This record gives sequence, C-alpha cells and structure tokens, in this order.
Amino acid sequence: MADPIVPPVESHDTHRHVIVDPTGQRFVLGGSEELSTLAEDGSVRHERTDLRVMTLDGHVVDHEHGDTAHTCPVCSVGPYSRHAMTTCEACRRFICLTCTTTSPVGALCATCNRLVRRQAFWAFLRSIF
Ligand SMILES: [Zn+2]
Ligand SMILES: [Zn+2]
Repeated sequence: MADPIVPPVESHDTHRHVIVDPTGQRFVLGGSEELSTLAEDGSVRHERTDLRVMTLDGHVVDHEHGDTAHTCPVCSVGPYSRHAMTTCEACRRFICLTCTTTSPVGALCATCNRLVRRQAFWAFLRSIF
C-alpha cells in the first residue's frame, strides 16, 4: 500500500465543563471532544464524543440537565453525586454519607457530632451537680 501523498489533517477540539466547588477543588463534569479529519480524497470526517463523569457512587453526571458533582468538605473525597451527600443539621455543610453520623437531632458531620456529644456530656454533668 502506497503512502498517502498528503498526510491526513486532523483538528482536535475539546470542550470541558469544569466546576470549582467552594473548597476550591476543581472537577471536570463532562464536555465534548470533536475530532475533524481531512482525508486524502478531500472528504472531512467529524467525530464528536460527549464526555460524562461517573461519580464515586456510580451516578453519571448529566451537567446539561443541571446535575453537579460534590467533594466532601470533611474527607475531601469526591466526586459524589448529590444522592451520596447529606446536609449536616448543625453547620449546614454538604457532606458525604461516610462522614455522616446519625444522631437524635438528625444527620451530623463528625465535627458537629463531637461538639454535640461534648455539650450533652457537660449538660449531663451540670444536671448532676
Ligand atoms: Zn466525607
Ligand atoms: Zn456539621
């Protein structure tokens, strides 16, 4: 097979949807890749690949429909979909389920859970003396 006289010309175009969450972490939510190839016979071929991010909890982030991904502010693990996150009842941070402690007052992050337990401990001591 003879070598082509003119090598195929390729043009690669990439779009990425990147979000930066409040902790400053960046992640790619998805995007698209466009590859245009000019063949020897002058014909142009376009290839478009849509990129989607799979979160750790197994959800595909559909950024075009308003889906976002989150990093847990406590353990810095992510990306998680909103299905794998809860809001801490005390500090209102959006945290992952691993960092969530269920308490009588609702879901708490580890920090608030320690605080609440300490407060309950002191309240208990005060109630005795
Ligand atoms: Zn976490
Ligand atoms: Zn909290």
